[in-house]
Amino acid sequence: MSAVPAKSPFVLSDVEGRVAGVAPEARTSTSLSANGEGMALRGSIEPRASLADFIWFRTGGAADWLVRPADVEDLAAFLAALDPAVPVMAVGVGSNLIVRDGGVAGVVVRLPKAFAKVSIEPGHRVRSGAAAMGITVASAARDAGIAGLEFQRGIPGAIGGAVRGNAGAYGRDMTDILIEATVVTRSGAIEVWTADRFGYSYRHSALPDGAIVVEALLQGGAGDPAKIGAEMDRIAAEREASQPLRSRTGGSTFKNPAGDKAWTLIDAAGCRGLTIGDAQVSEKHTNFLLNLGAASAADIEALGEEVRRRVLAHSGVELEWEIQRVGSAT
Ligand SMILES: Cc1cc2nc3c(=O)[nH]c(=O)nc-3n(C[C@H](O)[C@H](O)[C@H](O)COP(=O)(O)OP(=O)(O)OC[C@H]3O[C@@H](n4cnc5c(N)ncnc54)[C@H](O)[C@@H]3O)c2cc1C
Repeated sequence: MSAVPAKSPFVLSDVEGRVAGVAPEARTSTSLSANGEGMALRGSIEPRASLADFIWFRTGGAADWLVRPADVEDLAAFLAALDPAVPVMAVGVGSNLIVRDGGVAGVVVRLPKAFAKVSIEPGHRVRSGAAAMGITVASAARDAGIAGLEFQRGIPGAIGGAVRGNAGAYGRDMTDILIEATVVTRSGAIEVWTADRFGYSYRHSALPDGAIVVEALLQGGAGDPAKIGAEMDRIAAEREASQPLRSRTGGSTFKNPAGDKAWTLIDAAGCRGLTIGDAQVSEKHTNFLLNLGAASAADIEALGEEVRRRVLAHSGVELEWEIQRVGSAT
């Protein structure tokens, strides 16, 4: 099989030759067409791949194509050759994600272990692959006597998602620690973005759709490993006591409105324990939604909308979704 010429679009089509991301009705029984054979990708590509297998809610539809690149250059070459009409999104460990039941059109990129390396650099800096978990980064910083990254202990996602969503806790977020991040753009360019380019606000960045964060350089300060470790233990214990960590959930459902807490508004509106199907507002922390077992993504999203409706009626506050909702309903 001859290799796809470097400049030709990397076309992903189903068995009937329809292009992924362009014809949603075609998103069944996909397989790589002749166009996909001999492709430049050194990593793996899987058609109609389940995301529910690994995202926290354990429900929702499939990705048309799940791509695991071998390394940064592999990802860049793949995106450069991919038909620009095909939508692309990254997924981390899905700790802030509702994947709608109809699945995600186009390509979902999941960075494998090769992107999870963490190393220490001079000046109390930590360089982290985007697939490294927050706890891994916090632990590496602690071991190297680097303070200021402890809050990452409480965020159960990967660093790429944290950079993308300005994750934070205990009064700190990515704006306090990010120096720069390496981004692969939708067109396949490898770029180093300084923190200011992310245009951060509360749980939000200006990273465009289709761009993938592959690495981050983080700044801490000098610290005593024992004290840093004690703070991380405190965070872990507090989380355990207050959040449904062992449940199928998606983290904080709604952003805290300015000067208020989403969970108190939800509680005051009488939503604690509210259910739709197998979706429930957590009894332990009312800003968390749970999949009790067989909830569909539609059940979870409908429950979230019902909570928004009740909070608006009760307190006049319009809650804004923090969880990323992706894909199509049918
Ligand atoms: C129990 C629990 C507690 C939580 N506590 C907190 C908290 O205290 N503070 C907080 O901020 N969050 C919290 N979260 C939410 C979540 O952990 C964070 O938002 C986390 O940063 C998401 O990372 P992820 O790898 O799971 O991303 P995913 O959920 O997989 O993706 C989230 C978004 O980021 C994008 N994304 C993921 N990886 C990349 C990448 N490499 N490049 C570009 N875009 C990417 C996705 O496309 C999606 O839009 C909590 C979640 C849970 C379940």
